[in-house]
This record gives sequence, C-alpha cells and structure tokens, in this order.
Amino acid sequence: MNMFERTKRRRNLKEGYPEDKGLMNGHCNRSGCLAPLAGQSHWWMTDHETFTDARLYYCEACANQFTAWDKQIKAPIRCTLETEL
Ligand SMILES: [Zn+2]
Repeated sequence: MNMFERTKRRRNLKEGYPEDKGLMNGHCNRSGCLAPLAGQSHWWMTDHETFTDARLYYCEACANQFTAWDKQIKAPIRCTLETEL
C-alpha cells in the first residue's frame, strides 16, 4: 500500500466513510454516492486535497454528472476512464 492510500484510508475512517472510499475496487469517492466499484467501470480524477497526482475513483454515474457540469461551465473535463484494471 502506498503513502497516498494509507493517508486516504485513515482520512476516510476519521470522516466516518467506508475505509476504501475513492480507491480502486473500493467505493465511489463522492460522499453522497459511495457506490461499490468492484467489477464496475472506474473513472478517476486527480486528487487535489493532498496535492499529489494520485487517482481518486468514481462510479460511472457520478463521472457522467461531473462531465456534464464541466461541459456546462466550459471547464476542463476532470474524469477519465481507467483502462488499467
Ligand atoms: Zn458515484
């Protein structure tokens, strides 16, 4: 387990979320969603909270919502489909 994952797991537990929120095969990182990701498409966004280039994972439904919003405000698209599963 790398440093990012250790830090993220600790933060998740402290905030009362599933320990693997936002991690590969864990749960969607959006707090209002938390859909299980195992066996599902993974969409990632760069983590801005810890200023690393680590990937935070989201379910497809949330990624579609983020992308729709990004397009609406003409901002760069944040979510990318993970192809290295
Ligand atoms: Zn989600």
